[in-house]
Amino acid sequence: MNPQAKRPVRYGATPEEAAFYRDLVARHGSPLLVVSREALRRQYQSLQHQLPGVSLYYAIKAFPHPAVVETLAELGCHFDVASEGELELLRALRISGRKTIHTHPVKKVDQIKAALRGGSTTFVVDNLDELKKLTPWRHRVGVLLRVAFRSPSAAVDLSRKFGCLPEQAKALALEGQAAGFQVRGLSFHVGSQSTDPATHVAAIEACGRLIGEINREARHPLATLDIGGGFPVDYAQAGFDFDAYFAPIREALAALTDDLHLIAEPGRYLVAPAVRAVSTVIGKARRGDRQWYYLDDGIYGSYSGQLFDHAVYPLQVLRDDRPRHPAVLAGPTCDSIDVIAEGLELPELEEGDLVIGHLMGAYTAATSTRFNSLNAAKVVVVE
Ligand SMILES: *Cc1c(COP(=O)(O)O)cnc(C)c1O
Repeated sequence: MNPQAKRPVRYGATPEEAAFYRDLVARHGSPLLVVSREALRRQYQSLQHQLPGVSLYYAIKAFPHPAVVETLAELGCHFDVASEGELELLRALRISGRKTIHTHPVKKVDQIKAALRGGSTTFVVDNLDELKKLTPWRHRVGVLLRVAFRSPSAAVDLSRKFGCLPEQAKALALEGQAAGFQVRGLSFHVGSQSTDPATHVAAIEACGRLIGEINREARHPLATLDIGGGFPVDYAQAGFDFDAYFAPIREALAALTDDLHLIAEPGRYLVAPAVRAVSTVIGKARRGDRQWYYLDDGIYGSYSGQLFDHAVYPLQVLRDDRPRHPAVLAGPTCDSIDVIAEGLELPELEEGDLVIGHLMGAYTAATSTRFNSLNAAKVVVVE
């Protein structure tokens, strides 16, 4: 976590915006996480537009909320699940397990059984021991092999923990097929908040070559490529050029043989821009030459992603009518690491003033804790 990190702050709000936030707090209390279905739909449509021909599987872990899952399901989105609880969420919404892939490379046998009961029939593995766990169901399930590609530009490098080496993929595919498994394709996840498209491009090209090599010897040709998640959002608010980011990825996909079924597992890109955090100033103190403001949400709550996900969220204060001074925003727990941001310049805030966190859908509520027995921010769905 880096509370010192340079972070975008927006000062002031339109009267409509301010009224919108104040009205939500008057009705629902504080702290809140405000889910905009409209923004979620926009993100889904934007990704469909950027990656035409790619089936999208929302990675539920990013923000496992029924309203998010339901809204995406209405648009035709599929789902990436990694646990029984995530399947349970789909079941409660009567969404078929057939619309899922189970992407956790390491599973308990009980989890495999639960996934099969839920109707999930595609599983990701990255080694023979994991593949063997699926032996009793090998005629019923399809298997994707996860390949690791290291990602220097991603905020969270997931290829350290999962994925076989590219040079192991062929042997694994052929041995799997020889043992009677329906090995259908390859998958990778370059890591989350990957801001350099070259990482995806290199992995797509490498997988294209591997599939070609494997298919020269395979009993059944591999026909699926799952390009994972990792697509970024603009936390820095510095005008990130999404068209320029996606263009080379699109070109790399277009250069693959046309008969490949393409899948992606976006989490952050779909949900981060769809959620704002609304917190209230509950106390203030002058310490040295800095003004401290204590909010009713913090690092143990919705801002937990600053710790686990290395995110630096853009902030907004509703007022802009006073001179700015050096300020610190801290969370409500008794722990001293519970500081959201230092080195800010803020207008003098009062108890009851609201602070808005933007782009707060991904890995926020999902990782918040009940430390100090504080309640989680209430999730409110709008539009
Ligand atoms: C977490 C995860 C995702 C989603 O990643 P984002 O960076 O949020 O897009 C997709 N696939 C797998 C296997 C994951 O673990």
